[in-house]
Amino acid sequence: MQAYGLRDADPPFNDIDADIILRSSDKVDFHVHKLFLSKASPFFRDMVSLPQTNDSFPVDEARNGLFVLPLEEDASAIDMMLRFCYPRSCCPEEPHLDGFDDLKHAMQMASKYQLDVMERAVLLRLEVDPEVQHPERLYATAWALGLRDVVLAAAKLSLRHPRPVDEEFEEFDDIPATALIRFLDYRRRCVDAVVPIMTDFSWFHGNDIAEFLTKCSNMSCLDWNINVDNGVNSIKKWWWDYIETVKAELAVAPSKWAPAVPKLLSSAIEAAAVCPDCRASHMITPAMTFMCKRLSEEIELRISKVELKTPF
Ligand SMILES: [Zn+2]
Repeated sequence: MQAYGLRDADPPFNDIDADIILRSSDKVDFHVHKLFLSKASPFFRDMVSLPQTNDSFPVDEARNGLFVLPLEEDASAIDMMLRFCYPRSCCPEEPHLDGFDDLKHAMQMASKYQLDVMERAVLLRLEVDPEVQHPERLYATAWALGLRDVVLAAAKLSLRHPRPVDEEFEEFDDIPATALIRFLDYRRRCVDAVVPIMTDFSWFHGNDIAEFLTKCSNMSCLDWNINVDNGVNSIKKWWWDYIETVKAELAVAPSKWAPAVPKLLSSAIEAAAVCPDCRASHMITPAMTFMCKRLSEEIELRISKVELKTPF
């Protein structure tokens, strides 16, 4: 007989050949396979290999001949976790992390159940998605859980926000003051590492695009009073304006995403089109796209050399 309030999970976690049930805190039973849990998680491997009548094994009850393992997470969190554990042949829908809450839960489960696959998914998301909300809160969560790689990735992503710790959040209650001091110190050292990129143009030389950005047959297009090193004598004014704006941005938000802010790019492209020679070359957009990419790579390289020490 089914207990009151209990329901089964949707496919594929209601398989008739399942060999264990995971029960969520909101009373949803996931009929799953020990093999997939064991392969994804040393925690589950040890747990399902214990004798299942042993008092130390937190089995709640049996249902339909299967042991029931009660978990503290709700159905939505367990569904997400299982999608990371199962092979795609059994669970075709790609697992996804939707936003801040998913990322935080994924980190907590990755730590608690030793799920490397979930930790890697969080890392990847922080590395590729500049729109992830509250990286400073994710930093605090990762610090509290001792997830070093995620701590670094979250700190790095927070660089795109000028003042990431202006507000109080519950996650800050879980970390020592040292964690916050190192976070702020990391940001300061990142600013110191990237701002010189905008005056030492060693990263900029040796390509057709650099040639295009420093020379124009329309003399009024050029600025000869520039303050850069490495043999650059002139630069197009519209591009220099863009560089100065990016430099100001990097002084408060030293992130690889700064050069590609759409408003900055479109302003530079509009200003460039005022010069008839630049416009006629059809090089403005490809040049800006290329330089943006190079600049981001250079910022990323210098940031990657900035250390953030953790006690774990
Ligand atoms: Zn020009």
